[in-house]
Amino acid sequence: MTNTELIDKLRNESSLTDDEFRQLLESLDEKDEEYLYARARERKEEFYGKDVYLRGLIEFTNYCKNDCLYCGIRCSNKNAERYRLKKEEIMSAVENGYKLGFRTFVLQGGEDLSYSDDDICEIVSEIKRLHGDSAVTLSIGERSRESYEKFFKAGADRYLLRHETANEEHYSKLHPNNLSPENRKRCLRDLKEIGFQTGAGMMVGSPFQTIDNIIEDLRFLKELSPEMVGIGPFIPHKDTPFKDKAEGRAEDTLHLLAIIRLMLPKVLLPATTALGTIDARGREKGLLAGANVIMPNLSPVTVRGKYLLYDGKICTGEEAAECWQCMQRRVASTGYEVSISRGDAKK
Ligand code: SAH
Repeated sequence: MTNTELIDKLRNESSLTDDEFRQLLESLDEKDEEYLYARARERKEEFYGKDVYLRGLIEFTNYCKNDCLYCGIRCSNKNAERYRLKKEEIMSAVENGYKLGFRTFVLQGGEDLSYSDDDICEIVSEIKRLHGDSAVTLSIGERSRESYEKFFKAGADRYLLRHETANEEHYSKLHPNNLSPENRKRCLRDLKEIGFQTGAGMMVGSPFQTIDNIIEDLRFLKELSPEMVGIGPFIPHKDTPFKDKAEGRAEDTLHLLAIIRLMLPKVLLPATTALGTIDARGREKGLLAGANVIMPNLSPVTVRGKYLLYDGKICTGEEAAECWQCMQRRVASTGYEVSISRGDAKK
């Protein structure tokens, strides 16, 4: 089949055989890309129209007990300047964001057990008490099913936990031995069962990743059928074992955004900060390839430069207010518009 025919098949059947995926991932030329992105946009607009959702990201701690080889805040990076936000600081970031128009707050951090389940629940319920019209998303890594149940009862709506890679061997090349792909997947299934809108995803072009790994990731995503999928290019960090590895490619990321949109048409799909870091118009290109979410940084300016998962991260300086306007301009430049609703996944 030609690539155009494969794209039509993917559009109509929302999946392909492994060989067909391989062909698409290896041989898209510029004309095919345009066709692929146009189909992805159509599919997105069927469910979400021109709306783009903004999520206010609050990076509340960069302490982490894990030692993931790719990540700049891994515990063995002694050069990372560590910080933790107090509940009051988190709440003031939320207030600031609410005034700007954010109706989703994403609390993300390293795996920092100095925040107990009760601490997290207290923060979540306080946000929901003050802003019942807003969604709260957690992205704090692997915890027990019981902990996830507590967070959900406290009012958390969504949980982001990228699976990172669905392939066991690849997983072991990116992570220390005490982390397993089974537990990561167990977490994701628990989160879905409990009732969270759940997000999975992987880095594009992470070290040792093969095309077959990516196909496995796509199959895993299809089977899990998460409400959200976060993908972005791998970018090396100077104080990690992967400091000399090549970064992921923007084109590959855009292809995968479009493919994921066609496989999971209703998915909430961010154009990530990492994509905006390797290409100055990466996020806009992401929106034009099927993404419909952007996650601007709402962390206090004093800590923004410290939550560094990779080198060169953008938006570590500006004031939050400028950030909102900057996003509105960027989104408008694509022909889409920022929605002020909390932007839940369509059923
Ligand atoms: N501790 C939380 C949040 C992790 S940070 C958790 O475990 O889910 C969010 C995401 O950033 C990670 O899931 C990973 O996919 C991505 N990330 C980490 N290091 C990166 C790097 N060097 N380049 C690109 N993305 C990276």
